[in-house]
Amino acid sequence: MKAILIVFLAVFCLAVQADEDRYLLLGDFLPELAREIGPNELVYAEGGVSLVRVPVSQVEQFSRIVHDHYKACGGFMDVTHEIRKGRSAARLVWEYADPKDSGFEFAVRGDAFVADMVSMVSKDAYWNVLKSLEAMGSRSATNAKGAAAQKWIQGQATELTSGMPNVRVWTVETDHFFANKQASVVLTLEGTQPNLPAVVLGAHMDTITQSFTSDKQPGADDDGSGSALLLETLRVLKQSGAKFERTVHLVWYAAEEWGLVGSQFVVDAFVDKGLAVDAVLQFDMVGYNSSADDDNIYLLTDYTNPALTETLRRVIETYTDAKVGTTECGYACSDHASWHKKGFAAAVPFEASFSNMNGRLHTQNDKTDVLDVDHAIRFVKSAVAFVGEVGRVLPPQPKH
Ligand SMILES: [Zn+2]
Repeated sequence: MKAILIVFLAVFCLAVQADEDRYLLLGDFLPELAREIGPNELVYAEGGVSLVRVPVSQVEQFSRIVHDHYKACGGFMDVTHEIRKGRSAARLVWEYADPKDSGFEFAVRGDAFVADMVSMVSKDAYWNVLKSLEAMGSRSATNAKGAAAQKWIQGQATELTSGMPNVRVWTVETDHFFANKQASVVLTLEGTQPNLPAVVLGAHMDTITQSFTSDKQPGADDDGSGSALLLETLRVLKQSGAKFERTVHLVWYAAEEWGLVGSQFVVDAFVDKGLAVDAVLQFDMVGYNSSADDDNIYLLTDYTNPALTETLRRVIETYTDAKVGTTECGYACSDHASWHKKGFAAAVPFEASFSNMNGRLHTQNDKTDVLDVDHAIRFVKSAVAFVGEVGRVLPPQPKH
């Protein structure tokens, strides 16, 4: 009964908004897919990027096919809120087809204190957090479980940093017709030099499977592995007692699975608040270790910043035992794309070469039983080291 009621409510909501069109930015493999699913309009296309207008009633089917057939996490960008703000279709496409490259390489010193911080990373602490996220059953941005997951993460972040003077936890609402039950969570660790642009580390907290209303959407790897990584990184930053010259933001994005919606609103909030950012890392799926791969950590080379990607490579090679490879992800495959589109420098370390990634994503079997904690810990260590190096760590002063 509950299921029928939910379906009725979902259909009723969709019917209420049936007249509202959605504007989706698509990579080059999607326009024909859009044509497949029924009447929609190609608004503008250039450089392999298309903007199409689709009736709201089609978005669910569209998202299902993208997740089913293309196994793409994310896979498209819902930019309706940009169109509503009067932004031109051409500019939106240009911005994404060819964002202005603003990145530069950072010095990687191989710092003894950073190495100490890296050694504080705990497999057990990380795994316990990941198991807690998995046990929630679903963290979907479309239902109460997703809202509960947001509150839990917010609570953990607040608890972990209690007593730290320069920390604040805030949220950014997600204005979406359906995936609006979750707000993105931002933890800001104020730097000692607030005039220096900040470092952002992110992961998405929401989950999805083919049956959108199911409460079996564990998303252990996608993206519980990244969300847990941020909490373990935070625990280490606190334990180290260090300060950082740059401000460090840890962001748990909402509604990534619905067109990178949460992260677009987060980027807008940063721009509106005038919060400068020099480097953005995205951790989306870091738990699955493919035996078919030669390397361990794969850096995305498309829709990312080459200079920052090179910095990330040197951080990984300096502080972990990981072998580093490269791979391509395809179109807007995770939240870094929301920053990249606006010209911020972003980089992404991924769990495998794209063809060998965890095949269980977006299914109710995306569970920890196939994940490798030693593999995931390489990414946690890389995150801690990146904050230490690029955030410019100031070791705690010995107490006299
Ligand atoms: Zn994902």
